[in-house]
Amino acid sequence: MQIYIKGIEDERFHRPLQLIANLFFEETEILFADKGKSTDITVEFALIIAETVKARATLTDQSGQIFTASFEKDLPNNETEKDRFRRIKTAVSHVYLTVLQDWTGMIQKWGILTGIRPTKLLHKLLREGMPKEEAHKKLMDEYLITDEKIFLMQQIIDRQLTAVPDLYELQKEVSIYIGIPFCPTKCAYCTFPAYAINGRQGSVNSFLGGLHFEMRQIGKWLKDNNINITTVYYGGGTPTSITAEEMDMLYEEMYASFPNVQDIREVTVEAGRPDTITPEKLEVLKKWNIDRISINPQSYIQETLKAIGRHHTVDETIEKYHLARKMGMNNINMDLIIGLPGEGVKEFTHTLNETEKLMPESLTVHTLSFKRASEMTKNKDKYKVADRNEVEDMMELAEKWTKDHNYLPYYLYRQKNILGNLENVGYSLRDQESIYNIMIMEEQQTIIGLGCGAASKFIDPVTGKITQFANPKDPKSYNDGFEDYTNKKIKILNELFMKNTNVKEEV
Ligand code: SF4
Repeated sequence: MQIYIKGIEDERFHRPLQLIANLFFEETEILFADKGKSTDITVEFALIIAETVKARATLTDQSGQIFTASFEKDLPNNETEKDRFRRIKTAVSHVYLTVLQDWTGMIQKWGILTGIRPTKLLHKLLREGMPKEEAHKKLMDEYLITDEKIFLMQQIIDRQLTAVPDLYELQKEVSIYIGIPFCPTKCAYCTFPAYAINGRQGSVNSFLGGLHFEMRQIGKWLKDNNINITTVYYGGGTPTSITAEEMDMLYEEMYASFPNVQDIREVTVEAGRPDTITPEKLEVLKKWNIDRISINPQSYIQETLKAIGRHHTVDETIEKYHLARKMGMNNINMDLIIGLPGEGVKEFTHTLNETEKLMPESLTVHTLSFKRASEMTKNKDKYKVADRNEVEDMMELAEKWTKDHNYLPYYLYRQKNILGNLENVGYSLRDQESIYNIMIMEEQQTIIGLGCGAASKFIDPVTGKITQFANPKDPKSYNDGFEDYTNKKIKILNELFMKNTNVKEEV
């Protein structure tokens, strides 16, 4: 699909216009200047900017059909340039989405939102004191979000504030993410830092050496500055790929280095691949009071697991689930993926029926996304996936099934190139929500990333401004530079927390 955009000079609009077009078409080329090519459609904008912004879009296709849309939004002149631009961008996106919806007949349930965290927007409006009804109306009128998705957002926010009533006051604490970049084998859709562990013991040893160092240093900084930890999350890779002894030493380090570990609200260890779970490792988790784990079936169809390179069996998932239960794991999450190759409503129904026999405390339902770096995306032709309508049917099935089985949605996020432009939703039984997942999605506090591929997000406790910092993804670069990465993070933490302490003292 080629779209010629007229009347928009400012380059800052290019990306938002591209992202909105991507919601409608598989591959879109947008031209901002007349290159003499004949394009499928032309969208011409007219903007009048004064005390308000008035935007108008006119779409013309090759057969001469014309669609128009207008929208007007306030433009207070006491706002920063950034906020002013944001308002103008909303107006432009609004009319652009409207003409594309009218022309294609497709309704975008998330309206003009293309970002990862739609619930953040509603949190912000409510935090600013806007009454619920008014906030919902704004989402509908300005952002063109459908009733169905607004209802979902509100449901999620209500759950989050029940699970973490002090969510808006947790800026003075931090959460910790620990990335362990090893897995038994690499799955075809995976873009995480995950290296097949076999034959890499040397690399594992050096990596763990670096990780222990990071845990000690960051733990010391937190203790010295009286900063508590809300949650800890071991992800990766698969953190249970390392041996039981290595896990034991790691958790011993956590207890020795981190402040007030007994007060941490939640510690999760991903044990995603059932082929890594053994009685010895479960024993270690229990020893250190870790009872929230994730065992991820993704699908209960054996051929699918084979096709995506997950070298474990369906029976193994079920068996390890029962083993974990028997050994005291009382908060188990399971991940499912909608739209895996060769799967449709029939296969997904089977997966839900199998889930019903296990009833984990929480269930994360992902929609397959074609991320650029995955093997699956590189060989897209090899993998046959369901069409948009069937993906939507599966999503609806998941919604109905979770509701019928007393699971409540408590977080969601969207990805680019996600099948059917849908979302990933985390559901849980009542009071079994993962606090870490809420923290990472709603960006209310700093998350310090340790280990490989761990991304830190530093959130200014006063302004909410976000600074990102990423550790390298591959173990070799990590091993070469972990001291440096640790020092850089401590420097950022000093700037952030000391600055704000000073402000408080001066006041
Ligand atoms: S188990 Fe998870 S992290 Fe490991 S390769 Fe598969 S998708 Fe990637």
